[in-house]
Amino acid sequence: MLWSLHEAWGARMRIWISYLLWPGLMLAACTGNYYAMQTDVPMLWLNVNYFSLAFVILALERVIPHERAWLANDGQIVPDLGHTLLSKASVQALIIAPAAMGAASVSDLSPATWWPDQWPLVFQILLALSIAEIGFYAVHRLGHEWPLLWRFHAVHHSVTRLWLVNTGRFHFIDTLVKVVAGVAIAILIGAPKDMIVWVSAITGFIGFLTHANVEMRGGWLNYVFNTPDLHRWHHSMIPAEGNRNYGENLMFMDQLLGTFFLPARRRPPVDIGIRDPMPPTLLQQILWPFRTRQLTPPQDA
Ligand SMILES: [Zn+2]
Repeated sequence: MLWSLHEAWGARMRIWISYLLWPGLMLAACTGNYYAMQTDVPMLWLNVNYFSLAFVILALERVIPHERAWLANDGQIVPDLGHTLLSKASVQALIIAPAAMGAASVSDLSPATWWPDQWPLVFQILLALSIAEIGFYAVHRLGHEWPLLWRFHAVHHSVTRLWLVNTGRFHFIDTLVKVVAGVAIAILIGAPKDMIVWVSAITGFIGFLTHANVEMRGGWLNYVFNTPDLHRWHHSMIPAEGNRNYGENLMFMDQLLGTFFLPARRRPPVDIGIRDPMPPTLLQQILWPFRTRQLTPPQDA
């Protein structure tokens, strides 16, 4: 009797924790980001903050995994980290490019001067995230619907489990297309450099959390932000489930364009991945989009 009470209490605690984790971790990461930006060496502290979140998630994956089967090694750690590093290097090269053109940052290339920098910081961040989302959504959806881009995006979708380490597993061309779209929008709207830092940081935090194999429930937040609940469906092998939830950080584009997907049934789509075979090594995966013949994006039935 006492034991079953104890078990019931444990289960209830677990549910509470699963609801608190996503907002708690996001709040902690954003607070860390805010203070990092106030220091004399923001790049150092931004990275400390970013990697702290990664280590906390890695630990939580062991303690309260969402899917036990996803703890097993899939033999893809080296390619996962390799794609992550290559993607980061490509983005760095893009960031250096404006400096070579004589601008301190991409935001200095913009002719626009309308940014409401008198607004409270939270509202400015929400505005920047919303504008960026239009570009992120468009590129992500194209990545699923345009065969040429799907070849590259398929590398990310070829994983058979979701966990922190494959968050950044993107073919570097896939990353470049996304970042070029984001940078182009930033230049067009004239967002200040701080806003670009905030959008990049939040995109990083949300990316970690959506791929984390941690039992987290989004609740009402699922309707506003991109959460693990939503993104796991996006990785489903079934096209009618996977060609949904394209949002990067916010879900309003999916809500507006009818691609929002949050069914009440079975919460994790365990069968994640793609139908086409993906070669196992990093080099093969980098070359794969150029070599593979007749690869069509998954179509809804
Ligand atoms: Zn996708």
